[in-house]
Amino acid sequence: MEPEEARSILRPQKDERYGFGFALSPYRGCSHGCRYCYVREYPNALHRPEDWGGWVTPKLNAPELLWSQRHKLHDARVFMASATDPYQPLERQYRLSRRCLEVLLLCPTTEVIVHTRSPLVLQDLELLRAFGDRLSVGLSIPTDDDTVRQIVEPHAPAIPSRWAAAERLAAAGIQVTIGVAPLMAVHDAQAFARRARASGASNAWVGGLRLLKQDPFYKVLADHGWLKVLDSDYKEGIRAAFLEAFPPRKHKREARAQPVASPPATVIRQPGLFDRVG
Ligand code: SF4
Repeated sequence: MEPEEARSILRPQKDERYGFGFALSPYRGCSHGCRYCYVREYPNALHRPEDWGGWVTPKLNAPELLWSQRHKLHDARVFMASATDPYQPLERQYRLSRRCLEVLLLCPTTEVIVHTRSPLVLQDLELLRAFGDRLSVGLSIPTDDDTVRQIVEPHAPAIPSRWAAAERLAAAGIQVTIGVAPLMAVHDAQAFARRARASGASNAWVGGLRLLKQDPFYKVLADHGWLKVLDSDYKEGIRAAFLEAFPPRKHKREARAQPVASPPATVIRQPGLFDRVG
């Protein structure tokens, strides 16, 4: 948990499928230690893959570095964070994500996507709200069953606490997207999708799990009878349930002819953070 001074903070996103201009990660490592997380295999001189989840390095100068590079952010989109969760438990102490958001707030043409598994995001609710419609929060909820979560994401916050966070953010007027990603075993797809809609989220997406060759997570799936999550039909079934709960937005002309009573919502076919592993 030794803090460090980072040399760079804005990582250009080269993969066109993601559509993000820059990834911004105020921490290295991740205490959530999800068992499917491919980041554990990233080259690292100090930590072994099996130690993933046991170390987090705060980038102490992240806000200052970001401020010094703000000229890059005009009309750019920033995804926060990649290869970590911006709301690590250490964020309570270091407030690096918050201070980076304060910088981004001063960049009026920058669009921000905050993606997390943690209700700790609520500690910045007022700040997030100050962005208006140029910020959205994505909450990753890969399963509707917290007993599944306890196995695959043993150190990440419980699913009910993520629903509660989604509800509070949406009630505060913040755009919320539910990321069913990477898709894990689901108990009841229709009820899951309805739960997502009832949270007040305006969008949802379903992202598949792809594993490295000989990934030890195959054994976790096999041991629990969850290999179905790798099956494209299974994913399409979950996606269909979410499409029903989040009907696609109508084209403008169509919408004028047939106004909708509730705010538009959709399942966005956004590629999952895990879609590029394989
Ligand atoms: S929260 Fe994200 S970065 Fe952290 S361990 Fe889980 S999948 Fe990996």
